[in-house]
Amino acid sequence: MSFSQLGLSEAIVRAVTECGYSTPTPIQQQAIPAVLAGGDLLAGAQTGTGKTAGFTLPILHRLSAATRAEGAKRPIRALVLTPTRELAAQIGDSVKTYGKYVKLNSAVIFGGVNINPQVTMLKQGVDILVATPGRLLDHLQQGTMKLDQVEILVLDEADRMLDMGFIHDIKRVLALLPKKRQNLLFSATFSDEIKALTDRLLDNPAMIEVARRNATADIVAQKIHPVDRNKKHALLAHLIKEKNWFQVLVFTRTKHGANKLVEQLGKEDISAMAIHGNKSQAARTRALAEFKSAKLQVLVATDIAARGIDIDQLPQVVNYDLPNVPEDYVHRIGRTGRAGASGEAVSLVCVDEHDMLKGIEKLIKQTLPREVVAGFEPDPNARPQPIQLRSEDHQRGGRNGGRAGGGRAGAGGGGGGRQAAGKPRTSSSQPGQPGQSQGQRKPGGAPRQDQSGARPAPPHRSGGRGR
Ligand code: AMP
Repeated sequence: MSFSQLGLSEAIVRAVTECGYSTPTPIQQQAIPAVLAGGDLLAGAQTGTGKTAGFTLPILHRLSAATRAEGAKRPIRALVLTPTRELAAQIGDSVKTYGKYVKLNSAVIFGGVNINPQVTMLKQGVDILVATPGRLLDHLQQGTMKLDQVEILVLDEADRMLDMGFIHDIKRVLALLPKKRQNLLFSATFSDEIKALTDRLLDNPAMIEVARRNATADIVAQKIHPVDRNKKHALLAHLIKEKNWFQVLVFTRTKHGANKLVEQLGKEDISAMAIHGNKSQAARTRALAEFKSAKLQVLVATDIAARGIDIDQLPQVVNYDLPNVPEDYVHRIGRTGRAGASGEAVSLVCVDEHDMLKGIEKLIKQTLPREVVAGFEPDPNARPQPIQLRSEDHQRGGRNGGRAGGGRAGAGGGGGGRQAAGKPRTSSSQPGQPGQSQGQRKPGGAPRQDQSGARPAPPHRSGGRGR
């Protein structure tokens, strides 16, 4: 199976081929013909499956097959909504890369940066707009754009958008779109809320699913290092030096914890930066760029900040703290072992986190191997202490501040019962199976915890979300 066999134009196939991709991933094999056919689509897939090209390529094909007037009069014809700024930027890059040989303009807009250059860009005429919901509404309120000519709407990572409280924004945007349009919805999980949204939004959609829920990628080697809570940073520094880890993504539970760890690693001459919701967009972009280009050895991230980040060949993920919600473990370790590359995920687990570990092992249906590192043996008499999240890590950011990745206020405490109700029917691919191309062995996942949530999950939750 090749990209041209899927019915894509020569200009698009050429651009994809130049990226080194010769075989479409399973989601691409299914999504591309479905989108080209013009109907609605409901796709169960998460980052890492190749879903971006799955919708970008056929959108480019469809829009370029029926081009409109040149210049400023060009209306926005495709709108891609994403939960986070990083994901928006990544999708925007993909649109530019794959659209290199077609005459379409694209733009990315998200909050946390100056709005004026975005206004200028919009004035120049944009065919494909990638946006986070908050900033999109700012533009609409200011009258700097119209959406009345949109032919195709994509809701990417729809479950995360709902988790982050974007539902009201999405509804407001939907009200401004023409009634007749093509809708594509991508989601890793299918809660009742997603089901309600898809029922309302999609008309007789094609349904495809490629990722298995809550399955960790087989190619990610996982390990637990039991350690005392106050020796975690020393153990991490030891492992980085001892094993010559050069590109390590480290997860902490809180923003404060991320900052503190960066400081501690700095004292050990290990270059580290943190990305989380209290960092400016510029700081986050810089940290990510330095990490991607391997100038920075360690990137310390909170869950929301790291979601959707696509770093090719990331070899090492460290859970410095276990996540409160077991499903986040799956999302975290999904940052490694991407696109067919092997990876390793280690977790530094202290006595306070034993219940969390049990919850994770129950979810992934595996007992993870324990390996005590010499010199870091945990105290057998240590007693667990309740895990306190710092209050600033619970503050929900408003549209203009504080949220990681563009989260919005008003999530309503993150509705309960978020299990996989209303999953789409699978059409053809094998869930979670390795395919013939890269980028598809991704773990499935469940909705995640909003770190900025007003009502944090209690520590030691052993399964499910139910907040
Ligand atoms: P996504 O799920 O869209 O975030 O894509 C995950 C990764 O797979 C990205 O690094 C893509 O560039 C890469 N990718 C997309 N399509 C293919 C393909 N057909 N073959 C190999 N890699 C791909």
